[in-house]
Amino acid sequence: MNVAAPRVLVVEDEPAQREVLSYNLEAEGFAVSRAEDGDEALLCVDEDQPDIIVLDWMLPGVSGIEICRRLKMRAETRNIPIIMLSARSEEVDRVRGLETGADDYIVKPYSVLELMARVRTQLRRVRPAASGQVLEFDDIKLDAETHRVTRGEHSLKLGPTEFRLLSTFMEKPGRVWSREQLLDRVWGRDIYVDTRTVDVHIGRLRKALCQHGGGDPVRTVRGAGYALG
Ligand code: CA
Repeated sequence: MNVAAPRVLVVEDEPAQREVLSYNLEAEGFAVSRAEDGDEALLCVDEDQPDIIVLDWMLPGVSGIEICRRLKMRAETRNIPIIMLSARSEEVDRVRGLETGADDYIVKPYSVLELMARVRTQLRRVRPAASGQVLEFDDIKLDAETHRVTRGEHSLKLGPTEFRLLSTFMEKPGRVWSREQLLDRVWGRDIYVDTRTVDVHIGRLRKALCQHGGGDPVRTVRGAGYALG
C-alpha cells in the first residue's frame, strides 16, 4: 500500500464474529487489532491508536456503550469514529447508541459487506489519503491513487518511505508526530527500525519537497517530533 494502512480496532467478545470481521478487514488492507472485552479495548486504543473502532454493545465487564462514552469524553480519542454493533434493534436503543456519541450503528445480524461500506464511509473522513482522495497543503498536492506529488507547477520525485511520511503528515496538517508514532505508522510495528532512521527520511522528504524551491513546510518540534505546517 502506498500510504500507511488504516487501522481498525475490532471489539467483539464472540470469537467467530471477531475473526470473520477481522479477516474481511485485513483482506481490504486494514491493520486490525482485536479486543474481546472493554478493558482490553481501552488498552488497545491507547497502544494502537486506531483510526476507526468497531464496537460490540454487549460485552462482558465494561459495556460497549460505556466504552464509547468514555472515548468520546477524552480529547485524544474523541475524533476516532465508532461504529456500534448491537443485537438490539429497538429504536430507543439506536437513539441511545447515537446519543452516546457513536458515529454509526449497525444491528446484528449484519451483512459484512454493509459493515465494510460503513467503515469506508467513516474512513473517508479520518484517513482521506487511505481512501484515495487528493490531499492539498499550501501548494503541495498528493494523490494517493496515482502516487503523484506536485508542488506548484512541479512534479516531485519521492521515495516510497517519503511518500508515506508525507501522506501521513498531509492527512493531519499541524499535528505533531513523535518519532515513535511515525515509525509505527510509516514503517509498521513489526519492523525494527531505529528512531534515527526517521530523522534521515525526514531530511530526504524536506529535500524532495524543496527540490524546485519553496520554503520547508516540515516543522521540527523540539523534544516532541515533527509536524507539517
Ligand atoms: Ca457480544
